Amino acid sequence: MRKLALMIYGPPGAGKGTQANLLAWRKNFIHFDTGKYLEQLVHDPNLKNDKVIRRERKLFDSGILMTPSFVLKVTSDKTKEIAKAGFNVIFSGSPRTLFEALGDTSADLRKLNADKRGNKQKGLIDILEELYGKKNIYPVFLKIDPTVSIQRNKNRLVCGVCANAVLYNDASHWHKTCPLCGAELRRRVVDNPKVFKTRIQEYQKRTFPILEGLKKRGYKIINIDGSPLPYKVHQQILKKLPI
Ligand SMILES: [Zn+2]
Repeated sequence: MRKLALMIYGPPGAGKGTQANLLAWRKNFIHFDTGKYLEQLVHDPNLKNDKVIRRERKLFDSGILMTPSFVLKVTSDKTKEIAKAGFNVIFSGSPRTLFEALGDTSADLRKLNADKRGNKQKGLIDILEELYGKKNIYPVFLKIDPTVSIQRNKNRLVCGVCANAVLYNDASHWHKTCPLCGAELRRRVVDNPKVFKTRIQEYQKRTFPILEGLKKRGYKIINIDGSPLPYKVHQQILKKLPI
């Protein structure tokens, strides 16, 4: 059976995490939420005296992006484990930067990051190509209108325990507790309008260019309208996959 690797991209509020979860629940995908993984890693009590972890924890807690080479190393290692265990893998919104995705693609970066023998630093896409094969890698782009993006984030309620995001509509907006686990729902700090603006800018400046990079590398981006209900978007994605 073919093993697949998917990267779901799109602006904040496009429904990347929801779509990744739907595929994980239904189609043998492991949803590798790299942001959540890194957060847990730097706060692992067993690693609290590790020098590198301490350095990265400081960055993380102050809101600065973690060292790209560190992010690349730990996410690559974990991805290898997922592939070896025989799972499809799905990323939601990551790799986040051109460097994390494609390694040293610019001359400047190459100078900064090449090892002493001048070897190129591999990106996560290079690793995925080795593990899954280029023809089994599917970049998906969820397109939504900026006003929808803002609207969704303004109203987003997330469970404090299972992190389930509650769909906002007429039937659900009065929810106080999570329909999945019963814990209290809350608004996320990153969804407040000021932080949200920064996230949009970061996304446009740093993440969006990855799609161009992938195209140059010969990938066809699967464009999907992200505005319908999540299950309908899920069906559209499935239609484009060989599963
Ligand atoms: Zn919950």
